[in-house]
Amino acid sequence: MRLATVSLSLLCCIAPLAAQTPAQSIDWDSLGAETVRNLSAYLAVNTTNPPGNELAAARFLQQLLAKEGIEAQILDTTELGPGRANLYARLHTAGGKKAIALVNHLDVVPVTPRFWSVDPFSGAVKDGYVWGRGALDMKGEGIVQLMALIALKRSGVALDRDIVFIGNADEEVGGNGAVVFVQRHADLLQDVEFLMTEGGDNLVDHGRLAYYGVGVAEKRTFWQKITVRGVASHGSRPTKQNPVPRLIDALHRLAHYEMPLHVTPGVAKYFHDIAPQYTGRQRVWLSDVATALKQPAARAWITDNVYWNAVLRNTISLTVLSASNKTNVIPSEASAEIDIRLLPDQDTVAVRAELVRVVADTAVHWETMYPPKAPLESPIETDLFRAIVRAAHERDPEAQVTTPMLTGATDRPTYRALGIVTYGFDPFKTEEADAQHGVHGNDERVGVANVAFGVHYLFDVLRYVQ
Ligand SMILES: [Zn+2]
Repeated sequence: MRLATVSLSLLCCIAPLAAQTPAQSIDWDSLGAETVRNLSAYLAVNTTNPPGNELAAARFLQQLLAKEGIEAQILDTTELGPGRANLYARLHTAGGKKAIALVNHLDVVPVTPRFWSVDPFSGAVKDGYVWGRGALDMKGEGIVQLMALIALKRSGVALDRDIVFIGNADEEVGGNGAVVFVQRHADLLQDVEFLMTEGGDNLVDHGRLAYYGVGVAEKRTFWQKITVRGVASHGSRPTKQNPVPRLIDALHRLAHYEMPLHVTPGVAKYFHDIAPQYTGRQRVWLSDVATALKQPAARAWITDNVYWNAVLRNTISLTVLSASNKTNVIPSEASAEIDIRLLPDQDTVAVRAELVRVVADTAVHWETMYPPKAPLESPIETDLFRAIVRAAHERDPEAQVTTPMLTGATDRPTYRALGIVTYGFDPFKTEEADAQHGVHGNDERVGVANVAFGVHYLFDVLRYVQ
């Protein structure tokens, strides 16, 4: 069934090999409508985190699966606390290949209802959209994953890989749901080769598809707190023991330090893939970004883009400052919190040593605020990546399928640490403006047509990776 020997560029022109399979018997219009109804009902389950209340969401999904004869387990209720849970289900197959996991989070971020034009927990369907907190992040994708799995079971398509479905608590606050799941149930993941979850946007800019994005890598947060101690006294008599000027000197050095540029494999592919959207020397530069960064003009142009700059180096943002709380008091201590984000292949010990060298002041005390997560960089040459390319090109033959690095953080590293190839995959084609305003903002919504598109797209990806 697979087209391993055919070049990817040809795939879009070949009639689907599955033409005779029962998959063709699916009525996609009615499955799309069913997916919209389920999403609408799911958005009405309020899982604002804190406190989370993911147990209600887990029960809702469990009952949808039960109707299809798929047993789902509610897990980790004791470990996660009152009203909280993870969910696990598996579509068993007769095939001998390794499993693929679909992972979503059950919680959502808080809302400020007065800024919304609909009740954010009504699951309103109007003007061609499903509205509600979680429509994009990420109950919409969770329902699409669930319905694609159900559609595969209903269709009777022969599968070689078990399909695992996991709903996690607490992604939006501590990521504790995924951490507890991996700690307690590594056995359930033992045969999982591939995992798909949020973190790979298909970018639509003013109605024009820019690319299909597969998230193969994300940056690691490596937040630092630096502190200088001094002696408290009256502000009317300046002293050498005021810790504030010394902290400012340290921050000044960090603010003006340029972290070295470094091209990782997924980022090189991303620039190469988007190069045809540019002309002239910009196209040449992007097609080989590592070489271009050695030229001052190219380097200046590329690093002027805040996203491009952030995926080409470790970054430092000075954010929180604390010292005296009164104008006439010299404080006994001054501190700053620094948002540092590392490329996935960086060594935390070496980076910390580099920063200490830049600051060059032994009076500055360093503290790593949270233990950094495992690095996330998954390989690109895989059966899953090829399946995504095939399904995407069937829909948009000219589209690039590329690998933009996420500068934020997801639960993916928690699973990647088990050796699972972990991709960010978004089943929707989301307008940049909707993503920008809706995700963690107001009036979060996903198009009805987009939901129907997403469930068919993911269904095909899962079929092609068999
Ligand atoms: Zn999310």
